[in-house]
Amino acid sequence: MKIEKGRAAIISGGASGLGEAVARELSGAGASVCLFDINEDKGKALASELGGHFVKVDVCDVLSIESGFDQARAAQGQEHIFVNCAGIGGASKTVSKGAPHDFALYDRIIRTNLIGSFLCASRSAAGMAQSEPVNEDGERGVIINTASVAAFDGQIGQVAYSSSKGGIVGMTLPMARDLASLGIRVVTIAPGIFLTPLLAGLSDEIQASLGAQVPFPQRLGRPDEYAQLARQIIENSMLNGEVIRLDGAIRMAPR
Ligand code: NAD
Repeated sequence: MKIEKGRAAIISGGASGLGEAVARELSGAGASVCLFDINEDKGKALASELGGHFVKVDVCDVLSIESGFDQARAAQGQEHIFVNCAGIGGASKTVSKGAPHDFALYDRIIRTNLIGSFLCASRSAAGMAQSEPVNEDGERGVIINTASVAAFDGQIGQVAYSSSKGGIVGMTLPMARDLASLGIRVVTIAPGIFLTPLLAGLSDEIQASLGAQVPFPQRLGRPDEYAQLARQIIENSMLNGEVIRLDGAIRMAPR
């Protein structure tokens, strides 16, 4: 699908990190962008810088998501691009000091990363399904999800996060199959370690040591490199039903 002037896109988690980079890339290519995020200050500031829109949406709350889509579509029309970037981390072992994993933490990570992505994707697809195709392939939309290499090589303490990201990997192909007859593609990116605010709080030493674990190039990924891949997924209509690792060949060790 071409990113033409005014093509409407929504990016969840668009106020920061990978989502912010996607918003900048798509906006730079001419798209109208709407950011869904709980961070109102950053979201509003970026939306106004890009001439886009911001809607305060909590992806854990279905009513908030529905109102978000209503507001985004009223502002910029039906989106043909939806990018799921909202997500949280959190570390805890399955059993720690004799106690089982905190249920509330597990629940919050699954709700935000997995159920939040699913709810946004399915609601976006339902709107796309009502729209006119945008090209001769009959394409109506592209949905991009964000998993993580933790879906495949989850480290010690990452059981909740890896479960949430593994769920995103698992839903990619069936969702693409479900939506194929509607002309909607679904692709998931599984990033390695990217330098976003999620990691910027770590010391230079830890950042360097994380970067050194990457076979090549030996550094952390840049958010614009994630955004480039998101753009390629949108523009290359043969990409569908796939999970793409974007990780410099890193395979995470157990710890
Ligand atoms: P980030 O913290 O910079 O951005 C995440 C954004 O999501 C924030 O703006 C935050 O406010 C928003 N958010 C959190 N909970 C939300 C909710 N309930 N509703 C709406 N918005 C919410 O982090 P990032 O590094 O850009 O991460 C983006 C995605 O990429 C996450 O899903 C993360 O798991 C994934 N990821 C990141 C890395 C990395 O190295 N940075 C690696 C693999 C996967």
